[in-house]
Amino acid sequence: MSTSMHTVLRRCVGIVRLSVVVLFTHAVAVASTPTPAERIGELREQIAYHDNLYFRQAAPEISDQAYDRLKRELRELERLHPELAGPAGTGIGDDRSGRFPTRAHLVPMLSLEKSYTAAELQAFFARVARSTDNADITWVLEPKYDGIAISLTYENGRLTHAVTRGNGREGDEVTANARAIRGLPVELAGDDVPELVELRGEVYLTHDAFAHLNVTRTKAGLEPFAHPRNLAAGSLKLTDPAEVTQRPLSVVIHGWGAWEPAATQPVRQADFNAQVAGWGLPAVEEYLVVEDFATVWAEVEACGERRWDWPFPTDGVVLKVNEVAVQDTLGVNADAPNWAMAFKFSAEQAITRVRAITLQVGRTGQITPVAELEPVNIGGTTIARASLHNLNRLRQLDVRIGDTVRVEKAGEIIPQIVAVLTERRDDHLPIFPLPQVCPACLTPLEVGAQGGIMSCTNPDCPAQVRRRLEHFVSASGVDIKGIGPALIAKLVDADLVQVPADLYRLSREHLAALVGENKAEKLHAEIARSRSAPSWRALAGLGIPRVGPATAERLARQFGELDALTRIRSEDLITTEGKSRVAGVGDATARAIAESLTQPAQRRQLQGLHAVGFGPTSDSARQGPLQGRRVVLTGALPTLSRAEATALIVAAGGEVATRVNRETDYVVAGEKPGSKLAAARQLGIQILDEAGLRALLAGHGGD
Ligand SMILES: [Zn+2]
Repeated sequence: MSTSMHTVLRRCVGIVRLSVVVLFTHAVAVASTPTPAERIGELREQIAYHDNLYFRQAAPEISDQAYDRLKRELRELERLHPELAGPAGTGIGDDRSGRFPTRAHLVPMLSLEKSYTAAELQAFFARVARSTDNADITWVLEPKYDGIAISLTYENGRLTHAVTRGNGREGDEVTANARAIRGLPVELAGDDVPELVELRGEVYLTHDAFAHLNVTRTKAGLEPFAHPRNLAAGSLKLTDPAEVTQRPLSVVIHGWGAWEPAATQPVRQADFNAQVAGWGLPAVEEYLVVEDFATVWAEVEACGERRWDWPFPTDGVVLKVNEVAVQDTLGVNADAPNWAMAFKFSAEQAITRVRAITLQVGRTGQITPVAELEPVNIGGTTIARASLHNLNRLRQLDVRIGDTVRVEKAGEIIPQIVAVLTERRDDHLPIFPLPQVCPACLTPLEVGAQGGIMSCTNPDCPAQVRRRLEHFVSASGVDIKGIGPALIAKLVDADLVQVPADLYRLSREHLAALVGENKAEKLHAEIARSRSAPSWRALAGLGIPRVGPATAERLARQFGELDALTRIRSEDLITTEGKSRVAGVGDATARAIAESLTQPAQRRQLQGLHAVGFGPTSDSARQGPLQGRRVVLTGALPTLSRAEATALIVAAGGEVATRVNRETDYVVAGEKPGSKLAAARQLGIQILDEAGLRALLAGHGGD
């Protein structure tokens, strides 16, 4: 380990943002104590539920810390009751989505064992020392990148397969998507590449890339993404590689599986990191080599303090035995290697009281319980509400009005209630009764296909009507400034507005009666102005299941006018085999759209919007300077990220394609362009640099 690297790591130690605190040990205290077998069953059920959300849908409901607590409790119970233990290898999870062919790993891809306290980490350190007879070993301590795990196979230096962790034995083959990751070479540099190597790494988004992407999206009127890790996971599982290129993903390599010939394997973890960098791959740079536990712990604490200074998201550090021969001696268990341990930083928590539990009715009728809290400060923000997601979760936690609860905020995830402090509960607090009827319209609730999700099925439910209108006027829809939930409630109560089209029939007098003369004038103009928004905005504003701005834009692009969509038939959207006919839209989404758009109520909504003037496609972008032009991007541009360049091209009416062919109008080449540049030259396609692209966007240049 070089001293310079050590200095780099030391530099920011003084900056204190978040200290590593000892995690509160989760006490299992419920009204009637379940038997270990019952509790194990409950935990497995909950973990399976959250695994599905985390791995397959990239949309977790609970924080990683809360999830880890469930897993630790299960592991501890299984340790105490080995007769109840589950099959080996089930601790890894499973991210296989069913949307990709699966591929077996040559060497199983395990997860890491996790620790949360100094004592746990020290116990691991001592265990390794004992089983190696206190041999002279060294340790590598490195940041734990927070993204999605990937295994990259290079054969004779060429990237041949990219596979997700899956269940540890086989995962989703996402090779085309991995090739779309910027900064991941498809060919290794140098003449010391092995015949075959399975490199293990993490796909993630830097804080900067994430922030940038959200700025671009917000400018384009799209909903910002909520969490970088979930975005990385979701992006790697997109079925269209062209879409992946628009997500500024990064990757880091931190380990390996198969390596042939084995004799050329590095002898130390630290050498591996250097080797990987030599091949031109993104390697772990911020690592340290340490020897004794006192130093290990001091460095772990230092890393906890400076974790926000790293450009990438991290949720902890990983401690690995440096010597590969010792790693091999220690071996692996069913879930994880015996020579490595993750230490997870704690989330920020606070204790507060539940003042009330309210039930919200969503625009599709789904009931979401929300805990109204006594305001409490967590990590600089005041938290007054926490979502309980669905009635199932409410029941699981058994939250009652008046309860003292532990609230947690991790990253950008909505605050969560992680535990109810039942020992502080007043004996007489009644159980929160599950609602039987919709709080807004008193229609009996129905339980959806997914247990615990209850919905009001009355399409005229005033709460749903209001939510739908709120969505329509929001920035995800036609973006009418000056209409908020309060005004919508008044408009609905006065029976003036039921569906979006009604907004355009409001007279100045109607508005004046509700908001006063002065505001009415401006609002009336705002509503009229929104009619000239691109037609996809109106479509996105209808809240059709699975149709967000991006999908709405694709539908509008394919079918042109809103009017055409009012006459759409199922077979225009899907083939008889149920395959999507809409470019860039997946099969399941296309089927959901077909089902929704062919319903009379939805059709009437579209006809209504057409009737009030939405329609002859007013998408101004389509008259932009790049209208109808196909552009291919290759290499790194000096100032624009791939996503930014794409957004600009699309906003100017152009289309970004991934392959160069005779339909390509321009190739924009940056630094280190790939084979696309050669293809462009061969086909005689006009090649531009970033300045050339900017000139084109400004309406100059080109042919
Ligand atoms: Zn209702």
